[in-house]
Amino acid sequence: MDDSIYEALDVPEVINGVGTKTRVGGTRIREEAVEAMRAAARSFARISDLQARASQRISDATGSEAGYVVSGAASGLTLATAACLAGRDFGVMDRLPDTEGVPDRVVVPHAHRNSYDHAIRAAGARLVTVGNSDRTLGPGSSDLEPWELERAIGSDTAAVAYVPRDSIPLEPITEIAHRHDVPVIVDAAGRLPPKRNLERFVREGADAVVFSGGKAIRGPQSTGFIAGRRDLIASVALQHLDMDAVRETWNPPETLVDVDPSDGVPRHGIGRGHKVGKEELVGFLVAFEAFLDEDTAALYEEWEARARSIERRLDAVTGLTATGAEDGRGIPTVAVHVDETETGIGAVDLVNRLRGERPRVFVGDRDAGTGTFTVHPMSLTDEDAEYLVGRVRAHC
Ligand SMILES: *Cc1c(COP(=O)(O)O)cnc(C)c1O
Repeated sequence: MDDSIYEALDVPEVINGVGTKTRVGGTRIREEAVEAMRAAARSFARISDLQARASQRISDATGSEAGYVVSGAASGLTLATAACLAGRDFGVMDRLPDTEGVPDRVVVPHAHRNSYDHAIRAAGARLVTVGNSDRTLGPGSSDLEPWELERAIGSDTAAVAYVPRDSIPLEPITEIAHRHDVPVIVDAAGRLPPKRNLERFVREGADAVVFSGGKAIRGPQSTGFIAGRRDLIASVALQHLDMDAVRETWNPPETLVDVDPSDGVPRHGIGRGHKVGKEELVGFLVAFEAFLDEDTAALYEEWEARARSIERRLDAVTGLTATGAEDGRGIPTVAVHVDETETGIGAVDLVNRLRGERPRVFVGDRDAGTGTFTVHPMSLTDEDAEYLVGRVRAHC
């Protein structure tokens, strides 16, 4: 930590025990991707050529017709929605997020509503919620009946949005949506690993699937990608690429956008503020290859070993009870219950104390109110884990 770039800038470094959380910087970019970004920073490439190459690699890896690199999965949701709203209509592209006169409803299962759907609304769409969350009440009722979706889709529907959850299968949804000629957008931002999810949602009929590049892929934090239909990706490109172009000389790669020059050049689209630089594009591409080649089983073993070691050492502290948990993707984590009468400090105070130190130590706070903090092994080195355990012990 002595050679920390953050400390050099007089900013506290963070020991990250919360996984790939954006607010503490997401992930460690793979070394080979960092090297590639350094090289990319020294010379130039046409952004649309880099995107065309990315499209090919994303298509190979996911089975989609095409792909596109965006500035995060949330950015991907906005751009995929913009593509569903505008299609190839330069006029609509120019107006977004104003959708007057354009079908602009995005139907979303109630159980799939979450804060990230602001990114869908940011394109100008309006959400229509269907179904409910009965499953959380216990067994018996489903979160979405097919007839509910069927009836919610109408002439004003631009898309259906879906977040992978066990309670509602994707295939019946894509089947119904496609019968009405409506595309389905899937927010699969954090659904890697397992790697098979790269292909799964495309195979199940999704028209645009959005993933983060800065989570398990360990590319640049401000990247994500869309895997989807060629026409939707072309619309994304037209609404994202810098359009400071002259009609007579505008010549983007045909594999990305099959434009007829006589159509003219679109204005800067709604995605112009979602810029992806050459360094991010190159960093993403290199990280993505490494992710595809990675031995995920070995990685799980590493996370498991780190989590168990943290669990053992924290459980040995009087007043702490550490147990194995998982993060919803099967990645092993540690849940630590704090008995305040023994430790003299409650979980909330402990979490705040750790975050107030230098370096800041971040542990999971979601259940701190009920006396439990969590530790996620994914963004910790063994050395970090050692330090984290030491700091927790120091307060208890
Ligand atoms: C992380 C996440 C996002 C946002 O991803 P970014 O790449 O940070 O933009 C969106 N949706 C879900 C479900 C996520 O988990």
